[in-house]
Amino acid sequence: MSVPLLDLKAQYRTIKDEVDSAIQEVLESQYFILGPTVKAFEESVASYSNTPHAIGVSSGTDALLISMMAEDICPGDEVITTPYSFFATAGCISRLGAKPVFVEIEPESFNLDPAKIEAAITPATKAIIPVHLYGQVAEMDPIMDLAEKHNLAVIEDGAQAIGAEYNGRRAGSIGHYGCFSFFPSKNLGGVGDGGMVVATDDDRAEKLRILRAHGGKPKYYHRMIGGNFRLDAIQAAVLQVKLKYLDSWTAKRQENADRYREMFNDAGIVLETPECLKNDCVPGPEGCSLNGLKGVVLPEEMPGRRHIYNQFVLRVDKRDELVAWLKERKIGVEIYYPVTFNNQDCFKYLNYKKGDFPVSECAAESTLAIPIYPELTGDQMIEVVNSIEEFFKSY
Ligand SMILES: *Cc1c(COP(=O)(O)O)cnc(C)c1O
Repeated sequence: MSVPLLDLKAQYRTIKDEVDSAIQEVLESQYFILGPTVKAFEESVASYSNTPHAIGVSSGTDALLISMMAEDICPGDEVITTPYSFFATAGCISRLGAKPVFVEIEPESFNLDPAKIEAAITPATKAIIPVHLYGQVAEMDPIMDLAEKHNLAVIEDGAQAIGAEYNGRRAGSIGHYGCFSFFPSKNLGGVGDGGMVVATDDDRAEKLRILRAHGGKPKYYHRMIGGNFRLDAIQAAVLQVKLKYLDSWTAKRQENADRYREMFNDAGIVLETPECLKNDCVPGPEGCSLNGLKGVVLPEEMPGRRHIYNQFVLRVDKRDELVAWLKERKIGVEIYYPVTFNNQDCFKYLNYKKGDFPVSECAAESTLAIPIYPELTGDQMIEVVNSIEEFFKSY
């Protein structure tokens, strides 16, 4: 039995009529960019995220970029973020000519370690971008405290975390900006690229709205240099339909996560997070191996969180061998992300070196994501767990 990492066709089949007619309505209206459909969807996301404002943009990447533009981040400024995320998080900082400054992650959550942020703050620091990786919100209270103390903006990269919560607060509603992506593989995915910035502050929201249409207000009169960051109506129409189902899909992802925990435990192949990782990990010559341990470290739910499981990420020894093993058995797996930012060629100019972020680098070397999507069947999960169990028996 083949098990894909994600099955968007299965999801489409369940909502096809509604999605098709939403697209048809946009076609009939011939109103394709911004307009009433986008506005209605913005209101829905604002209400879903518990923020007064939501500004539809062209992608999650552009959500990050325009948030930094709204903070006037420019050459000479520094922005603190994690070295372990999707490329856009750091790429956007560099695109504005600012300097990405990386801070180590926590081994259990894979998110920014708040205890390590303050040491990285300098007079040039303008903002912090915590990423809510895999669908779990970063430790936001201490991050917001630091931001207030040092007068920094906080831009939440919630691309993987729409609807996730931290002590009852929705992802995106805690910082000054919350960025979402509607890339098709996210929990709320469009039929192309799309994104959203949510904001609590009226002035920031107004600036974002102006910047997304070239910075002109009134139209053709520019006090700011913006860009074309507009969301189109077909995306908004489809996403509006899908948003109704998001909580039920999230519930399925959470059930699947619980079920995996039971199944891996029943198979007797669950490992504790290794001590070496908890106490300032120092990777050996082979990188961060789990030293021949046969089993998986399961993803941890941190206290006070609503984890929405954009990904279910395991930590294992012999990760690359397990990935090859599963691919051979037609099980969809992916490595998010195999190279930390400090080790990316394009960031060589920042003068980081290998080993600067051992916890992040260990994660890059030892993790893999297995299928967790809502339509995953019990039989498919059995197939995944059995195949992983067999792998550990095979050597
Ligand atoms: C997907 C993603 C982005 C970028 O979103 P796009 O819509 O693909 O531009 C940014 N940050 C993180 C953490 C992501 O997962």
